[in-house]
Order: sequence, then C-alpha cells, then structure tokens
Amino acid sequence: MADRIPEEKIDQIRQALDIVEVVSDYVGLKKQGRNYFGLCPFHGENTPSFSVSSDKQIFHCFGCGAGGNVFSFIMDIEGISFQEAVVKLAERANIELEMNVTSNLGEKKASKEIQAAKDAHELLRKFYHHLLVNTKEGQHALEYLLERGFTKESIDKFQIGYSLNSWDFVVKFLAKRDFSPEWMEKAGLIIKREKDGTYFDRFRDRIMFPIFDRHGQTIAFSGRSLGADEPKYLNSPETAIFNKSKILYNFHLAKPNIKKLQHAVLFEGFADCIAADRAGVENGIATMGTSLTDEHIAILRQNVHSITICYDSDNAGIEAAFRAGNLLDDAGFQVKVAIMPDGFDPDEYIKTFGPEKFRKDVIDASYTWMGFKFLYFRRGKNLQNEGDRLSYIEQIIKEISKLTKVVEKDHYLRQLATEFSLSLDSLKQQEKQIYFTKKRKEKSNATKNRKPLYIQNQASELKPAYYTAERRLIAHMLKNRDTAYKIQELLQGNTFNIDEHQAIITYLLGYYEDHLEPNVSAFLSYLQDDNLRKMVATIEMMPINDELNEQELHDYIKQVLNHKKMLKIKEKELELKEAERTDFKKAISILEEIKQLRNSL
Ligand SMILES: [Zn+2]
Repeated sequence: MADRIPEEKIDQIRQALDIVEVVSDYVGLKKQGRNYFGLCPFHGENTPSFSVSSDKQIFHCFGCGAGGNVFSFIMDIEGISFQEAVVKLAERANIELEMNVTSNLGEKKASKEIQAAKDAHELLRKFYHHLLVNTKEGQHALEYLLERGFTKESIDKFQIGYSLNSWDFVVKFLAKRDFSPEWMEKAGLIIKREKDGTYFDRFRDRIMFPIFDRHGQTIAFSGRSLGADEPKYLNSPETAIFNKSKILYNFHLAKPNIKKLQHAVLFEGFADCIAADRAGVENGIATMGTSLTDEHIAILRQNVHSITICYDSDNAGIEAAFRAGNLLDDAGFQVKVAIMPDGFDPDEYIKTFGPEKFRKDVIDASYTWMGFKFLYFRRGKNLQNEGDRLSYIEQIIKEISKLTKVVEKDHYLRQLATEFSLSLDSLKQQEKQIYFTKKRKEKSNATKNRKPLYIQNQASELKPAYYTAERRLIAHMLKNRDTAYKIQELLQGNTFNIDEHQAIITYLLGYYEDHLEPNVSAFLSYLQDDNLRKMVATIEMMPINDELNEQELHDYIKQVLNHKKMLKIKEKELELKEAERTDFKKAISILEEIKQLRNSL
C-alpha cells in the first residue's frame, strides 16, 4: 500500500497529528471519560455512537462498524485513496513528501486513468462552454437558453456549454490530445460501436451542464436536448469518478452560503437548483436523479443542521419530499418543506411568478416538518366525511406525540382543535394516551436489553465463547508484543477458528517482526484490508483489563482449542456411526479417540 511513500514518512505524519483534532474538523466531538464521542458521519443517527480515542489514535463507530486510524478516516470521509489521504495529511502536518517514483504499477495505472478522466472532463467543460458563449455553432443553443430565462451570469457561473452536432468531434478532440479511447469510453464521454470497434460521441447537439464534485472538479455531464430529442436529459453513466449516490449538485458553490446561513435548500434536480440560484437562493443543492442516500446525508451533516426540501408539487414530488424529510428528521436535521401550487416545480414557478415571490412565498414561507405532515396526511381524504376526518385526526395526533417539545405539542394540538372545533382537553388526553402507550412499549423492550447503546449493538447477535475469547486474545496481542508471541506459542500451531481473526494475528506477528513497540494506529496503516482494519478498531475499543493474568490467558486459549476439539469430536461421531455398521474393530478405536478428546476438554 505504501509503495510510493516510505513507511517512515507515514509514521512521521501520523505522529505529528492528533486524530481528535483532525476528526473535529468534520464531526462535533464531546469528551466522555477517556474517549471523545459524536454523531457518526458515516451513518444517520441521533445518539452518538461514534468514538475517537486520543490514547490509541483510532476511531470507531459502534453503530455501523466504521473504524480505523487518521488515514482511514480521511480516506472514508473525503472518498479518496490512501495516497491522497497521506498527501493531504502531510500538508496539514507540514511535512514534506519526496515522492518516490518506483510505485506499484497497477495502482499507478488506475490513478493515471482517473486523472485522465478528470482532465478530459475539465477540458471538455471549458470547450463546451466556449462553443456556447463565443461561437456561431453554439448561437442557437445560447438563444434557446436566454429565451428560457437563463442569464449570462448564470451560464458562466454554472459553466453551461454546448456539444456540437457531430458523431466524432469529441472522439477526435480527445485523440488529438493523446487520451486513450478505452479510458475515455470508461469515463463515459464516448461510446464504442459493437460492429467495428470504432467510437462515437455520447453527447451530440445538446446543452451541456457540467457536474462538479465537492472540490469543484468536473466529473460528469448532463446534456439537455434542444428539440424533441429523447431523452430530454442525457446523463453521464456512473464511472470511477462519478457516483450519483455521493454527489450533490452545486455543493462546491453553495457550501460557503450554506455555512453562512446555517441552512441549505434541497432540490430534486439541477435545473431547479440553477433557477433558484438565479432567483437569489444561493444555498441550494440537488441530488442527481436519485433519491436521498445515507452518503448524501453524511455530507450534509458535516456542514449544516437545518434544511428546506423544495421538490415538485405534484404527487410524486410530495411523496419524495415525505421520504426525504423522514430520513433527514431521523438523522437529526431540522426539516422544513417548501410547497408550491399544485403541479409546479421551482423552475416553472420562478418563470411564472418571478424570483421575489419564489423567495418570499415559497422558500421563506416553508412549512415546518409537522406542518407539512398536516398537509401530507390530508391528501386523498375527504374531511367532510366523518370516517376520513377521524382517521386523519388520529394520524396527526400520533405524529404530534412524536414531538419532544411540550410547546410544540401544544401549538399543533391547538391548531387541530381550532380547525375541527374539538375540545383541546380531549385532544391532549388522547395525545398523552398515545404517548404513554408508546413509552410503555419502548420500556418493556428496553428492560429486555438494558445495556448502553454500543453494547446493545454488539450483543445483537450472541457470539459463541470461542469468538469472544479470540477477540480478547487479539486485544491483548495488540497491546503487548511479548503477549503476542506467548499466545502464538500456547496455540501450538493451531489457528484461530474465525478466519479474519487468524488473518489479523498473522499480520500482527508480521508487524512485530520489524516493530518492537505495539502501536495500533501504526498497525492499521500496515493492514491492507479495509474489513480487517474495521475489525481491529472494533477489537481495540473493547473494554479489557490492562494486564492479562495467567488464569485468564489459559481460559481463553482453552476456549479456542476446545472449539476445534468439539468439531473433531462431531466428525469422529459421524465416522463412528458408519463404522458401527461395517467395521466393529475400527468402531472401538474411534470410540477410544472420542473418549480421549472428551477428556482433554
Ligand atoms: Zn457509524
């Protein structure tokens, strides 16, 4: 893994940095006992189960199992390679890296390919934009945009462009600049013809919207047709650099405004995002034709806690807003929902009613999450009908009972009472009933399992004794080199029962060959496998005694070896059954073996 950057450098960087400080840039951390806790940036949660240890210089999430050292944290959160993480952290630690040229060939090729894909996108983004703004070929496209309310500023800001009506312009353009056609096909820019293996342009005669990653680098395009050509929007396929579930359109431009306003507006598509930006809503972001994912939520949570959802006001849009709102609400965001007249989307609304009305009557007038639910559950119901009305009221009271603030509960119960001319007292009573029934249920669930969150998660599948014993042994081996060798000796050539556990100790003993001192954080850099790294972080965060006494040690080893013997006994018992029918003498000797195995347990 560290072929290009020498291990001493990596150690130097690791030692120069404090993982708590690095993580704090992304996650709000609070000290609790020896460790720091916060909301996990890798999965949606309300109760902190993400911990960082300053002593051990590692992080671990009890919820989703994420874990590792400072390098793995930066790799995971920024979505970058190990090399890139090292470079980034070296900069932070003010350590100079002299890059060694002898690198792993495969890795070098992959990173070269990715760089080429990025370079080609950047080049084409500039060229498409130039074609649209400055050339005769792009003039009709420019007029088309201006007619539809785009401004010159907006076209520049979002680097909108135009792709020529040609089958091979991009193919030749890239070939002339020595880009490999195979790589460019994988980057989604050109397509290979099945019949003769030649290539043609993916985007032809379309208005080109570049899609940027969070650093402002072009990684994909969406091409809008000018006429009746289908599809109306043609997007780049998913590639090594473009992953829809991780990309929020306009994030790089909106981020400073989001930070300043402590608020973001989420749109369903990039066209709405651009229209809203023109209308002065500069903290807008959009998903790229997918529903909101956990990865999106994780990116958002590093930057903001309050979000307005502004989706289309048709049936599909409202359903999507309800789903997105629930995800965001569960992840602890303060959620609002902007509503437009039936059937409008933000782009059309702005065109019809103007930017000011959009800001005032739509964005600033957004509904609270509860207020939106009042509208949501009303859909498809005829409130003149008593049955519909009662089921609606019950549904809303149920939602109100989920609120945590008494003032809020009171507010919405009053609203309900006024609208349906009901007694506030009876509504309150009903709300309490629902609330306490739910509480009782939760309580009876909790008494079944009254451990703290992180222990609950670990106990969710009960593990056999040898499993726990192996993990405890590994935990001590990570702490002490001598213990590691001692345990290896006591195993007498036997392996751990769990393959991953055995892999970890094999790596660990390899690590101790060249390193005299135990250091989990350094060992995590040495481990190549992401899965094993997470497992080591989990094991390292298990509470264990500092010292391992002889009795404990022998008990654990016994658990590990006994499991092997138990498997052996089962095997012998099957053999015995067979032998009893066919070979009496053999059966006697197998029986003897089983007896001996049992005695040794
Ligand atoms: Zn997590």
